[in-house]
Amino acid sequence: MARNVAFNGVGHLVAPSLADARMLMYQSKVDRELFDVIDLDPYGSPAPFLDAAVQAVSEGGLLCVTCTDMGVMAGNSAETCYSKYGAVSLKGKFCHEMALRIILHSLDLRANCYQRFIVPLLSVSADFYIRVFVRVFTGQAKVKASASKQALVYHCVGCGTHHLQRLGKATSHGTGFKYGAATGPPVGSSCEFCQQRHQLGGPMWAEPLHDLAFVQRVLAALESSPGRFRTEERIRGMLSVVTEELGDVPLYYTLDSLSGTIHCNTPSLLQFRSALLHAGYRVSLSHACKNAVKTDAPPAVLWDIMRCWAKIHPVKRERLAETSPASRILAVEPTLQASFALRDDANPSSRKRGLKRFPENPEAFWGPKARAKAGGGISPSLQEKRKRHQNKRTERSDDGTSLKNFPCKRFKEGTCSLGAQCCYSHEEAAAAPDAPPP
Ligand SMILES: [Zn+2]
Repeated sequence: MARNVAFNGVGHLVAPSLADARMLMYQSKVDRELFDVIDLDPYGSPAPFLDAAVQAVSEGGLLCVTCTDMGVMAGNSAETCYSKYGAVSLKGKFCHEMALRIILHSLDLRANCYQRFIVPLLSVSADFYIRVFVRVFTGQAKVKASASKQALVYHCVGCGTHHLQRLGKATSHGTGFKYGAATGPPVGSSCEFCQQRHQLGGPMWAEPLHDLAFVQRVLAALESSPGRFRTEERIRGMLSVVTEELGDVPLYYTLDSLSGTIHCNTPSLLQFRSALLHAGYRVSLSHACKNAVKTDAPPAVLWDIMRCWAKIHPVKRERLAETSPASRILAVEPTLQASFALRDDANPSSRKRGLKRFPENPEAFWGPKARAKAGGGISPSLQEKRKRHQNKRTERSDDGTSLKNFPCKRFKEGTCSLGAQCCYSHEEAAAAPDAPPP
């Protein structure tokens, strides 16, 4: 680092340290020399650094945090997520947005210990990681509002419907606010649509993820200096979707999970969005998921729209188990008459403009590689590992000789013209009871 600093001639700007980052940040607080910007981007979880970081950033300063431990944050080990971030993650379709809300919850909670609170500027889920940009302020009065900014999530294991439960209640009271306990729960002991159980997740940040004025300024800065960033197109695409997101609606559904639950074919994005708009609700995409449907329509309306869709595109009911979520949802008559006639405003501007919104991976096996081994060894690449373990349990012979064990049905009927070339047996005695057709 020291050589790089000298090489670039930035000695007056950069002071490298070989130290525990936490000790450096705590010392800055003792010395009253707080940092205007702190960027946490460790390999793995930033959790051990959060306590020091929320204290060491200056008043109104910028704190940037990257989390690459997406397995934990997206619901693969909810108990580990709790131990690191103080919130239980869920494996719902909305898991990437929930991961953003979990790190924001964790940051706000830790800041609250020191009479500080966060204001998110931009929160993004990209590739294999998430990254949040927040400002940190001090104010005992505002910290009181923090409980009412967090919410628990009830997620139905059958149909995927979710409901939010705020942790506190803030009511406007003259010039200020009055705070109290929230009331609930928002759901019964089983799901009102499919009668299955709910999983409980959170708490998570339930307020807006982005400051739209800030995002617009970033977009404007991008336009005013074209060619400055190599990822310009991608920044423009992603931030444009961010500006279209419904800020006051946490989490989302996905089109394929809605249609998958009732086993019908999937309406097009424009048809489904049109139906929601016709019914008088707002709808948006999410930058965190390609098929996301973010809407202020209650779940009952979503399922009514799906029931109407299933009337036009019938589902094979006889194949469904009586207790399946699909049967239970479709057994109810919709009270809403959905219209799937396309509306012009159903097509989001970022889509109309053909922006690069959800880029594909540039190559196969692209993404973070294995952590370096202690002592400088190289761990085997993912591809090598896959090669070694793939098809371990299913040893198949591809030479076709195994088929000779099965009798030829056409030979039996006297219609096989292949003779000895036929891959099936032409010996009467070899007849097996469950032979496949040739
Ligand atoms: Zn359900």
